Amino acid sequence: MRELICINCPRGCRLKVDDDLNVTGNFCPRGVIYAKNELTHPVRTLTSTVKVQSTLERRLPVKSSQPLPKEKVFDAVKELDQVSVETPVHIGDVIIENVAQTGVNIVATKNIEK
Ligand code: SF4
Repeated sequence: MRELICINCPRGCRLKVDDDLNVTGNFCPRGVIYAKNELTHPVRTLTSTVKVQSTLERRLPVKSSQPLPKEKVFDAVKELDQVSVETPVHIGDVIIENVAQTGVNIVATKNIEK
C-alpha cells in the first residue's frame, strides 16, 4: 500500500493505492488519475524564469506548455539556464522548443515589450 497526497487542488486528499493500483481516499476522479500516473509515469509542470534582454525586467517567467516527465525536469532546468530572450516577448511565445527532448515547449507567461 502506497500513500500519496493529491496535488491537483488545495483539498489535498490523502490517497491510498494498493498493489493493483486501486485508489481510495480521493474526493474526485482526478485523484485516481493522479495516483496512477504518479506511480507509473510521474509528470510535473515546470515553472521558472529565464534571463531577458530588457530595460524593464531582469527575468522572464516561463512554464512548460504541458507536464513533462519528472525525470527530465532537471535537464529542462539546465536548458533554461542557457537562454537569454530578446524583447519584445509575449505570453505564449515559445522560448524553448522540445525542451530536454520531451516534445514539450517552454513558453513565456508575461509580456515584456522592451
Ligand atoms: S482527489 Fe480531487 S478533490 Fe482531492 S485533491 Fe485531488 S483533485 Fe482535489
